[in-house]
Amino acid sequence: MKYSSFQTPERRLLGAGPTNLYPEVSEALIRPEVGHLDPKFVEMMDEVKSMLRYLFQTKNEFTIAISAPGSAGMEASFVNLVEPGDKVIVCVNGLFGGRMVENVERIGGEAIIVDDEWGTPVSLDKLEESLKKNPDTKVVAFVHAETSTGVRSDAKEIAEISKKYGCLVIADTVTSFTGIPILTDEWGLDAVYSGSQKCLSCVPGLSPLTFSDKAIEKIKNRNSKIQSWFLDQTLVLDYWSGQGKRSYHHTAPINSIFALHEALRLACDETLEKLWNRHLNAHFRLKEGLDEMSFNFVVDKEYRLPQMNSIYIPDGYDDLEIRSMLLNDFNLEIGAGLGKFSGKIWRIGLMGYNARSESVDYCLDSLKNVLNK
Ligand SMILES: *Cc1c(COP(=O)(O)O)cnc(C)c1O
Repeated sequence: MKYSSFQTPERRLLGAGPTNLYPEVSEALIRPEVGHLDPKFVEMMDEVKSMLRYLFQTKNEFTIAISAPGSAGMEASFVNLVEPGDKVIVCVNGLFGGRMVENVERIGGEAIIVDDEWGTPVSLDKLEESLKKNPDTKVVAFVHAETSTGVRSDAKEIAEISKKYGCLVIADTVTSFTGIPILTDEWGLDAVYSGSQKCLSCVPGLSPLTFSDKAIEKIKNRNSKIQSWFLDQTLVLDYWSGQGKRSYHHTAPINSIFALHEALRLACDETLEKLWNRHLNAHFRLKEGLDEMSFNFVVDKEYRLPQMNSIYIPDGYDDLEIRSMLLNDFNLEIGAGLGKFSGKIWRIGLMGYNARSESVDYCLDSLKNVLNK
């Protein structure tokens, strides 16, 4: 059997990530290979760290990109900061919060769940109540932008309350990173991770991660060994550190890091303020069109994520049929509902490269066309 090269269909990716790549990012991917300890490559990694610090709004020395997707950033945060027996409050208001609970339990930590309805933000009152009841809690974890529902939770307030009770704070910012404000230092977040394929519009498979000095201190004072070798950040640090003594830990996905460097460069060049505004403007344009078509948003206005728009599927339309028509007739991918929202909602992502009028209009036109059939 002779195989032919894979021909990629040209899709417009308005789901929950990946997104279409910036053309500059695609070009960066196919640069000639270099060694992962090559001095030029190492220099570039230092720039990656420095650009990540700006985009996370942090001075944290430990700011890197993990060589694996967002889920690995999540797991790295938990395996490094949580020890067996540690109490961890996990705020769950969607699918990804549920995965955090799984992480805590697999480590042998005790997960205390602050549960909120899907489609609503983390309740600050419930969090504080839980902290009062469990004063020995070590860590509070939450999802800033719940991609499964399109909700933004108040990261600043969550961190403030958690700090009052002496907890470290883990924030999932996979979908929020560069799409809405994340002020790591100002808000006092201790472990913040993201993914490369959402609002950065880079290739999937990398997870930006930053740890505060307090988080590093906790890691250094652990009683037990970190049970994951690959995600033990004390080992990775020697590879990413700027002290010139780079040592081999694993072979970095070199080309993906070329692409990441380019995506970060574009983001820094545009500036955070402009990125946030661009996402917001795309959202308003989409909302106007969806309102005209009488769609209902899942999330109340003040908690909506501009980059992840959840809408109810109107009565009488078949989820799979409509999404197949969008894909086959218009090359347009939108996100399906996950978990308890499966078959009930659609999620329209306007992330990074696609946070622009042209993508919004294409989406609205395609939807109109398909729904009228
Ligand atoms: C996408 C996503 C993840 C997981 O990222 P992967 O790159 O798919 O592993 C985690 N948390 C949130 C909120 C996400 O949106």
